[in-house]
Amino acid sequence: MDDLYRELILDHYKHPHNYGTLDPADISYEDDNPLCGDRIRIDLRLDDQGRVSDVRFSGKGCAISQASASMLTDEIKGKTLDELRNFSKEDLLDLLGVPLSPVRLKCALLSLKVLKAGAYGLTTWPGEEE
Ligand code: ZN
Repeated sequence: MDDLYRELILDHYKHPHNYGTLDPADISYEDDNPLCGDRIRIDLRLDDQGRVSDVRFSGKGCAISQASASMLTDEIKGKTLDELRNFSKEDLLDLLGVPLSPVRLKCALLSLKVLKAGAYGLTTWPGEEE
């Protein structure tokens, strides 16, 4: 594993970006990854153009799951829900930048699963919807 990326993940885990909740929020969704015990909730606020004007996540779990949520919430600010629909699991894995085992993949993709379930009602794991 590349040390630079590993440090990036640990840094997001220790100092998560956009951590907290929004009340009220336009979209709130929460789900877990029973394989690892990770839990993520994402709250979104949309402006009148349909862009994400504010986002927070909360939850607990392993470093990969929490760092992934921190990076994802950084990435989606200012984008429309339509633009986010095209945000793929590969895009998220690129942000994390480390090779992951199948079990760790579920940790990494939990935040994207929560986002897609909240925004579009997709409840399958990203990459398994087709
Ligand atoms: Zn995990």
